[in-house]
Amino acid sequence: MVPSHPYVLLRCDACDQLIDPETASSGLLIFPRAGETTYEEPPLCSRCGMAIGLTAMVRWAEEEEEG
Ligand SMILES: [Zn+2]
Repeated sequence: MVPSHPYVLLRCDACDQLIDPETASSGLLIFPRAGETTYEEPPLCSRCGMAIGLTAMVRWAEEEEEG
């Protein structure tokens, strides 16, 4: 039995893995509309969302050091 899901099934933009909306990147905003779904950000699984978040932090830190 397949549970009915209110969300659209998404695939991670980085690793192409199916995303569970409950564990998706917290920055992901989904706007379901009639016939189409608009994303504020590329969909990312929790792992890639975390990895990209860390990368962004590292870059930010490096830019701070370089001044
Ligand atoms: Zn991923």
